Amino acid sequence: KALEGSLDIKIEDLVFFYEKNNRKILDHLNITIPQGEKLAILGRSGSGKSTLASLIRGDLTPTSGNVQLANLSTEQMGDDISEYIGVIQQTPYLFHTTILNNLRIGNEQATIDAVWEVLRRVGLEKLVEELPDGLNTMVDEAGLRFSGGERHRMALARILLKDVPIVLLDEPTVGLDPITEQALIDTFFEQLTDKTIIWITHHLQGIEKMRHVIFIEDGQLEMSGTPEEL
Ligand code: ATP
Ligand code: MG
Repeated sequence: KALEGSLDIKIEDLVFFYEKNNRKILDHLNITIPQGEKLAILGRSGSGKSTLASLIRGDLTPTSGNVQLANLSTEQMGDDISEYIGVIQQTPYLFHTTILNNLRIGNEQATIDAVWEVLRRVGLEKLVEELPDGLNTMVDEAGLRFSGGERHRMALARILLKDVPIVLLDEPTVGLDPITEQALIDTFFEQLTDKTIIWITHHLQGIEKMRHVIFIEDGQLEMSGTPEEL
């Protein structure tokens, strides 16, 4: 779908509960995320952050209210939404195929030059160059050939190659050691400056790089402001 106007995300009166579960996970939530925004979403474990991410991505459907991208609901967008929103999760998935194929997922037309360019941008160029089969090296099942940090860099490279305008980071650095984590956060923000960033996290490291911070508690917006205000 060709979208008109800016790629703002509008969350309006959003209510969500899982079918088998009576508890309201999100309770009349309203958030507008303008194109280019750098938003951190904080909240306790279980507060509904990943659920919200799935709703923004259209992987879940609101119980009531809606989530819109450029004034189209996620239902109207359907699968086209993946042209606009990329996600990096805690454990990025790598497929049992070559590095090249892994990077071209969702973007089969990407040239070899473009692939090397994104590998350089995420700091994996040297590692791949030194592999015996280079880009044609097979990634082992579950991505065992890559460390946690490298796997995240692969996921970022995939997103950069696809050049989506909106990137959702769902606690992408959990479980990494602090130095790897900081290096990864730096790379994410350097490489994604022109994009909308929605960064779900449950600690404060790195939030000074964001323009807005919101806290979610009991399904509602508990606090919202700039990093300095909080
Ligand atoms: P964390 O910081 O631990 O990742 P979160 O804020 O991302 O937590 P969610 O994963 O969105 O929280 O979960 C919110 C609530 O919804 C939790 O109570 C969880 O148990 C419940 N929940 C999550 N996924 C499902 C599901 N598929 N079916 C039923 N309940 C679910
Ligand atoms: Mg979560």
